Amino acid sequence: MTKVLAFDIGGTKIAYSIIDENGCFLNEVIKVSTPKSAAGIVELLKTTVKGLEDEIDGVAVSTAGAVNNAGTRITSVPGNLPEGYNQTDFMALTTKPVLVENDANSAGWAEFSIGAAKGCRNAVILTLGTGVGAGIIVDGHLLKGKSGAAGEMHFPVDSGHKRVCSGCGMFDCFESFASGTGLNANAREYMGAEATSYDVIRGLKEGDHQARAAFDKWQDYLIKGLIMVANVFDPEVIVLSGSMAKFVEYDKVSREVNGRILTQPFELKEAAFENNAGMIGAALLLIARIK
Ligand SMILES: [Zn+2]
Repeated sequence: MTKVLAFDIGGTKIAYSIIDENGCFLNEVIKVSTPKSAAGIVELLKTTVKGLEDEIDGVAVSTAGAVNNAGTRITSVPGNLPEGYNQTDFMALTTKPVLVENDANSAGWAEFSIGAAKGCRNAVILTLGTGVGAGIIVDGHLLKGKSGAAGEMHFPVDSGHKRVCSGCGMFDCFESFASGTGLNANAREYMGAEATSYDVIRGLKEGDHQARAAFDKWQDYLIKGLIMVANVFDPEVIVLSGSMAKFVEYDKVSREVNGRILTQPFELKEAAFENNAGMIGAALLLIARIK
């Protein structure tokens, strides 16, 4: 049975575990705070790999940031990781096979391989978290684009110059509305300067009208974005993952989007995996390559 050490590298934490070819975790997922320097991250990766090298057939890395098409290095560093992280030489971690993939792509591959999109050939997996990420599967292949950055969910969903996106600088971008950051902005707009997305979700349960308005605005823009995604990619399924996915009213959103698209209806589903999808997806991509 092939098994690999899988890392998930994010701005606040790094998680790792050993995963087999069925996507099963062979030991507990260890989580540590992300070191503040690029050198600190490399040191952590090196030490961890060294300690487990005899037990594994390779190293899979799911990371924030765009990754080149060879799966060897990062081509852009997201703002929440230290400067110089893009210089990380992942291939030098071990003489065994190493594969690096973007975290949204990795999570998408996990859902496509053994999760909510299993059995489909065309799927879009949207990660609704602080930002919005996407793993796009076209005819059974991960869509990477020429530079590995395909699936950036930055396109306008409004024309009112209402909000600037912190990711791309455009006005009224999908990410600035449909992310957790977007719901936080709605919370401030409808419920007061101190309010957050937590207040929206709590207020919803209590029947608060302002919370309902803040949530509906978030979900309406999610609907607009899903219409675009469905029209462009014509997927069998769109899977929603990330911290915001559990709040979506799936029946309502699915009905509205499917009623307004030009393609055949698709299925809208919640992700099968929560936090560890990135590690699973990167591990399965590497194991497929090893075999
Ligand atoms: Zn944007």
